[in-house]
Amino acid sequence: MTALQGIGMTSRRTRERLVEQIRAQGVRDERVLQRILETPRHLFVDEALASRAYENTALPIGHNQTISQPYIVARMTEALLECGTPENVLEVGTGSGYQTAVLAPLVRRVYTVERIEALLKTARQRFHRLNLLNVRTKYADGSMGWPHYAPFDGIIVTAAPPGIPLALVEQLRPGGCMVLPIGSGREQVLVRVRRTASGHDKEILERVSFVPLLGGTS
Ligand code: SAH
Repeated sequence: MTALQGIGMTSRRTRERLVEQIRAQGVRDERVLQRILETPRHLFVDEALASRAYENTALPIGHNQTISQPYIVARMTEALLECGTPENVLEVGTGSGYQTAVLAPLVRRVYTVERIEALLKTARQRFHRLNLLNVRTKYADGSMGWPHYAPFDGIIVTAAPPGIPLALVEQLRPGGCMVLPIGSGREQVLVRVRRTASGHDKEILERVSFVPLLGGTS
């Protein structure tokens, strides 16, 4: 499995450099940093971009979408785990599947929803190849969540809605957290929402830039 071992630009040294950059940006959770080290990001982008896979930047994955920047994936995963290690997590916006793959070994199960069928199909192949057996996928508009498996201990949204989607808050267990970008322009804020007995609390983490959360499927 040479593709998994990696050579040259995908070598362990290259991945370690990426982890050091993310550590310098303030991510402290060693479980998360270890996942960044171990997740073969070059398998989540087109072969033509594989040499750039361990750069700390978002990259195009087709269909006008991007694989998230590794720092952001690490930061969102850390923010989710800070809330108490979740057992079941809903992810809205599978995209390449990279965020899913970073998260899956840290929790019992990930339910991930994607609205672009072609992206989901490729992501599923990657989960299979990497033997990520605790990931369930669904082709749907994820803004309504996945009621069948609710409530969730955690929710992670990797595309930006203009405001907090209450349908998703309702699928959180009390005490559970949702980490998501919020805003309608090119720049948004990363927010952590915690469901409480009577409603929810909101905490702003930092400025981010995500693709928008869209309705329907394609
Ligand atoms: N975490 C992904 C990020 C992909 S970009 C990665 O690392 O690759 C965000 C993804 O959210 C895109 O694939 C986009 O199609 C998807 N998306 C946008 N709106 C959505 C919705 N309403 N339901 C499900 N997925 C959505």
